Amino acid sequence: MTLSEKDQRYLWHAYTQHKTSDTPIAIVKGKDALLWDENGNTYIDAIASWWVNPYGHSNERLARKAYEQLTSLEHVLFGGFTHQPACDLAEALLKILPKNQSKVFFSDNGSTAVEVAVKIALQYYYNHGEKRTTFIAFEEAFHGDTFAAMAVSGISLYTTAFQDQLLKVVRIPIPEKGQEEACKQRLLEVIAQEKCAAFIFEPLVLGAAGMRMYAPEVLDELIQICREHQVLTIADEVMTGFGKTGKTFACDYLKQMPDMICLSKALTGGTIPLSATTTTEAIYEAFYSDDISKALFHGHTFMANPTGCAIALESLKILAEEEMQANLKRIHARHVTFADKMDKHPKVARTRTLGVIVALDLKVPDTGEYYGAIRNELYRFYISHGVILRPVYHTIYILPPYIITDKQLDRVYQVVEESIAYLSQKGLI
Ligand SMILES: *Cc1c(COP(=O)(O)O)cnc(C)c1O
Repeated sequence: MTLSEKDQRYLWHAYTQHKTSDTPIAIVKGKDALLWDENGNTYIDAIASWWVNPYGHSNERLARKAYEQLTSLEHVLFGGFTHQPACDLAEALLKILPKNQSKVFFSDNGSTAVEVAVKIALQYYYNHGEKRTTFIAFEEAFHGDTFAAMAVSGISLYTTAFQDQLLKVVRIPIPEKGQEEACKQRLLEVIAQEKCAAFIFEPLVLGAAGMRMYAPEVLDELIQICREHQVLTIADEVMTGFGKTGKTFACDYLKQMPDMICLSKALTGGTIPLSATTTTEAIYEAFYSDDISKALFHGHTFMANPTGCAIALESLKILAEEEMQANLKRIHARHVTFADKMDKHPKVARTRTLGVIVALDLKVPDTGEYYGAIRNELYRFYISHGVILRPVYHTIYILPPYIITDKQLDRVYQVVEESIAYLSQKGLI
C-alpha cells in the first residue's frame, strides 16, 4: 500500500467530508518553507502549516533542544511537581506579555487554552458569589473545537450540530472599517441585557474567518467598556501570537490590557503541541483560598510538558533575534507592494495586510459557503502548482513561515495571480 492508500483505510482527517474530498497528500519531508510528498513533488508551505511554523520545518536548533530535553527529563507530572523548562518559559512569557499578566496555566492546544480561559472566567464569578454566565464573542470568530471553544466560535458549519448543547454566547459584529459604532453599541446593549462573564476576541485579525482585520483603537474601546462593566476580557492570541502581526503579540498594538491571554500555535515554533492561558494577579487571587473548592480543578496529563517548554524557550530566542525581526519587516514590505498591485486588479474587491499576513477578497457574490466551489477550485490550483494555500470563502490569504525566501514568496504571489486568471478563464469569477 502507498501512504495515501493506508491513510484512506485507517484515518479520519480534520474538517473533511471523506466521501467527496480529494485524497490527502502524503508528506515525507520538510525543510524550511518547503515540503516534499511521497512522489517527490515539492510544495511551498505558504500558510506555515496552519499558522504554527514561523522558523521553518525541521529546524535544527529546535530539534537540538528537543533532543537535550528528551534525554534529560522528557516529561514529569505537573501536579505536585515542577521543573526548570516550565519555570523558565513562564518567566520568559510574562516578560514579553502585557505587564498586567501574572500567572501561566499550561495545556496542550489552542482549544484547551480557550477552554481554560472560559472556565476561569465562569469560576472567577462563581468564587465571588456572583452569577455571570453569558459570553460575548465576534460573529464568525474561531476559538477552537472543544465544547466551550466551539460555543464561543461563530462559524456555523462547524457548530450547528451542537447548537442546543452550548454555553450562552451573544455575538457582536466584527468592528471592521465602518462597523465600529455598530459593534460598540451592540456590546453596550448586550452588557445591559445579560449577566456577562467575559468577552473573548481574536485581537486585530480573525484568522479562520478569512483574515478579517480591525483597528486597535476600537478594540481598546471595547476592552475599556468591558472593564467599566466588570466583564472580563480574553484575548485569543493563538493565531496572532509570536510575530504574525509584526509585533510579538497583537495586544502590543493596544493601550488597554486584556485580563487573560490564550497562546498556542507558534509557541513551540510549530514542532509539538503546547499552549498557555495567562491571567492577571486579580484573577489568580479569586482562586487563592483556604477553601479547596475555590481551586481551579482543571488539568491535562501532559500539561507543561518539559520538552515542549524547552523548545518554546528556544523559539522565543529565535523570534527576538535581529535576523527574524528583519524577516518580519521584509515580508510585510513585500506584502504591501503585492497588495497595492492586487488592489487595482479588476477581479479583486479589497486587500488587507498586517505583519506577515496578506489577504485579498475576490469580487464574487458571497455565498457564505466556507468550502464553496471557487474555494475548492483555487485550492486544487495551488496544490497542482506546488503551493500550499487554503482560501476561505472568497478570500485568498498568505501567512508564510518567516524564513521564506524572496524567491519563494515571489512564486507564491505569482501563483495567486495565475489562479485568479484561471478562475476568470473558466468563467467562475
Ligand atoms: C487555531 C485556533 C484555535 C484552536 O487551536 P487548536 O490548537 O487547533 O485547538 C483557537 N483560537 C484561534 C484564534 C485559532 O486560530
